[in-house]
Amino acid sequence: MDDIDDDAEPLITHAPGVDWDPAERRARMVERDIVSRGVRHAGVLRAIGTVPREQFVSPDVAEFAYDDHPLPIAGGQTISQPYIVALMAEAAELTPGDRVLEVGAGSGYGAAVLSLIAEQVWAIERHRELVSSAERVLRELGYDNARVIWGDGTLGFPPAAPFDAIVVTAGGPRVPPALLDQLADGGRLVMPIGSVTRNQELVRLRRDGDTFEEESLGPVRFVPLIGAQGYSERVAEPEAEVLTVAAPMSGRRTAGVRAPHGISALVAESAEPFSSIVSADIGPLIERIGDARVVLLGESTHGTSEFYRLRARITEELIAHHGFTVVAVESDWPDAARVDAWIRRRTPIGPPFTPFARFPTWMWRNRETVELVDWLRDYNEAHEGDRPPVRFCGLDLYSLFTSRDEVLAFLDSVDTDAAEVARTRYGCLTPWEQDPAAYGRAVVSEGLVACEPGVVATLTDLLANRMDYVDGDVHAFDDAAHNALVVANAERYYRTMYYGSVESWNLRDQHMFDTLRAIEQRAAGGVIVWEHNSHIGDGSATEMASRGESNVGQLCREAYGDDAYLVGFGTDRGTVAAASTWGGPMEVKSIRHSHSLSYERVFVDSGIPAFFMHLRDPERRELRSELSTPRLERAIGVIYRPETELQSHYFQAVLPRQFDEYVWLVETSAVVPLPTHGVLGAPDLYPFGL
Ligand code: SAM
Repeated sequence: MDDIDDDAEPLITHAPGVDWDPAERRARMVERDIVSRGVRHAGVLRAIGTVPREQFVSPDVAEFAYDDHPLPIAGGQTISQPYIVALMAEAAELTPGDRVLEVGAGSGYGAAVLSLIAEQVWAIERHRELVSSAERVLRELGYDNARVIWGDGTLGFPPAAPFDAIVVTAGGPRVPPALLDQLADGGRLVMPIGSVTRNQELVRLRRDGDTFEEESLGPVRFVPLIGAQGYSERVAEPEAEVLTVAAPMSGRRTAGVRAPHGISALVAESAEPFSSIVSADIGPLIERIGDARVVLLGESTHGTSEFYRLRARITEELIAHHGFTVVAVESDWPDAARVDAWIRRRTPIGPPFTPFARFPTWMWRNRETVELVDWLRDYNEAHEGDRPPVRFCGLDLYSLFTSRDEVLAFLDSVDTDAAEVARTRYGCLTPWEQDPAAYGRAVVSEGLVACEPGVVATLTDLLANRMDYVDGDVHAFDDAAHNALVVANAERYYRTMYYGSVESWNLRDQHMFDTLRAIEQRAAGGVIVWEHNSHIGDGSATEMASRGESNVGQLCREAYGDDAYLVGFGTDRGTVAAASTWGGPMEVKSIRHSHSLSYERVFVDSGIPAFFMHLRDPERRELRSELSTPRLERAIGVIYRPETELQSHYFQAVLPRQFDEYVWLVETSAVVPLPTHGVLGAPDLYPFGL
């Protein structure tokens, strides 16, 4: 039943539009998604690190090839996620002389991987169109020991039997007896067994003469195995739409494609539409926030005007009518302290400098922030004496050197001897002032002695002398102590960056959470946080969890439970303020329309241009459940690279678990940046120097 069209044009010789380095992505994927989850078989890791997965999918999803999730292929089927392919290949305990049968060839990717480990692979596929494309791409790429056969794999492939290993990549009700017959003595069969609609169990059978030893490898989710000794087409077909996925055993990453109109219609039904930021009825949202202690307001980009303006409206309402007293933002501590001094009409503590003049300046040095800051100042003035003043705080830790200067200035004012000691200790960091990241590199790769003991000792000494130093001005002491903490954590952060992004991400988000917690515990009222969705959405509901990353939103949920209210913000198109490279100039860039497999696309398809959507509501079980099939979600930070958008800006998430509420604005525009020229080097009491 071979079905190969020898005269056809080569299917693909390279993935069109690929301007990234697949080998590099592959290597990263092997480490990030496969080794990290425990696969150790050297041959399997080598094979996954070799087979160009982008060649087995259509060009429009090629950019996704090295993300660890299944992708759609012809016939409504999927190419399995690389982790699952690796897991099954390892479970099959392949050795170089093995003859292998794969049931469910699909794109041919799995067969290519198996063929690099074993002697010969026969891969059966029931969809004829998949057979020809898989066979062609395998020939093109030179995997000559893998053959694709058109047929019903539940019956095996008797002409080549017996097989040392059989790998079944679709879920059946039981192991087909024909496959048991065709398994060689000592052979291994790996297959998902279970219901069409629910999770299945991945099992491994090992043949010993006439007996089969069975072992469970954990829950998975695959498309159905349809055939004479599998499910009948009639039973499987109605479910096929949701069963496009093979899930990992951790159960964390699944992705499926459901008819968007169904979900979008449900979203449209549940959404609370609004027509403009000024007139939006935020009353129901404020009511839902209730008396939460911490309200986290996100943003899917760092440069969207509407997100700032709508968050400002919500913030002002929470402050004016619901007793909130702190705005804590994703900015450096000393810079925010300048704003805080301005809105509370205090003399700034520490040496003069221009706040928010470091890359990315537009994130806080923008017209929208100025409007909020002016409102906060007016509010504090209007309520002086009758309400606690509202504070403005920075949660981040990038201010290694500004914070150092603030600590030294404080010590100069209270203890000149201690200031000298601290100056010497901090001197260790001075050579790296222009490029703190190079400090971490020098410590890790060149064996430079770390400045850690000195910065930690400065913090410890400062705290130990609290009683002597406070002397009248607690505020100045607290500010200096926090700056000393920032120096200590920033020093660690820059070193940790070279051990890996997971460690440095966790260190930064833990620092932001600890700072928030300390602020909240001393605040007279609730705290409103402004940070990117990637920090304030619960990271355990996104692919961050599988990398071992945590974030502010997750830590808040763990610490505050329902007293933390997490609000995500998203958009489809328009313009955004962002740079092309780290440290590069701000540009106003057009945002690409969202990807067809994303949550954003579901919201676009709802036809409602702007809405609030309550996700915590237990009554909305159907909405939550429909939205709970994991999808892609877009994150644009201070850098936006539309040309590699799928790889650079999308991640997998379960949105209704990530947020308590979601705010959608289909079309948005870039923030209006304020100039830094004329203020750099000309410090002014007004934080924006205008
Ligand atoms: N290993 C594939 C790859 O790397 O692209 C992915 C396989 S996909 C998850 C499962 C495949 O099993 C589908 O292509 C489906 O058509 C196929 N399939 C289902 N029942 C089958 C059967 N009885 N015989 C052969 N193929 C079958």
